[in-house]
Amino acid sequence: MKEQLSALYELQSLDMTIDLINARLRSLSGAKTIQEELEKSRRELEDAEKNLAAYEAELTDCELRLKSIDTKRADFEKRLYSGAVSNPKELSAIQKEIAMLKSQQSQLDGKTLELYDTVEEARKRAHAAREAVRQLETKLDAALQQESEEKTRLQQKLAAAVARRATLAPTITDKTLLSRYELLRKKAGGRGIAKVIDGKCEACKISLTPFVTRKVKECKEYVFCESCGRILYFDSGDE
Ligand SMILES: [Zn+2]
Repeated sequence: MKEQLSALYELQSLDMTIDLINARLRSLSGAKTIQEELEKSRRELEDAEKNLAAYEAELTDCELRLKSIDTKRADFEKRLYSGAVSNPKELSAIQKEIAMLKSQQSQLDGKTLELYDTVEEARKRAHAAREAVRQLETKLDAALQQESEEKTRLQQKLAAAVARRATLAPTITDKTLLSRYELLRKKAGGRGIAKVIDGKCEACKISLTPFVTRKVKECKEYVFCESCGRILYFDSGDE
């Protein structure tokens, strides 16, 4: 009977190890948090790059318009100072054109200068976003590698525990004891058998009566905790 209880106690420690490993394996998420961060960063990068491209296009457009105004103005000025036009009305019209072009030019100059700053800012933002994506990709690779190693390690531990359990379980010949254990384990959160340590049930910590403690030590019959119902077991090595 003592051997049965001792084997059952070892079986329980294996079952608890197996539960723990399975829970740990289930919690491996494929670095989900980093994956999500990376997706967000990639969206931000895409956004930053679109933004940059739009400002760059706007700047190019301004520069082209400035060039065209410049050419027009040069043409008018050439005509004005060439002496070819003498009609005062026509001269005045040319002067008006030049004045209008100057005003357009000055407005566009201001806008172009602003755009230089804006493009520079957008370029910095895109650069920072690219860097963030790069860092997260590195971080994700490392996390996935670590998870994969952890998974291998846990699976090896699990296989060892399962193998040990397979050799141990048949040594528990008292099938009533075994099924009582299984039932208690389901009902009482993972534990079906508890040691008596310092006169207390190891699982629910209740103080047992000297009578119960003695019966457990004598080991002539199965004794159950009066409080939690678990199978009680006394390991003389704990004394
Ligand atoms: Zn108890």
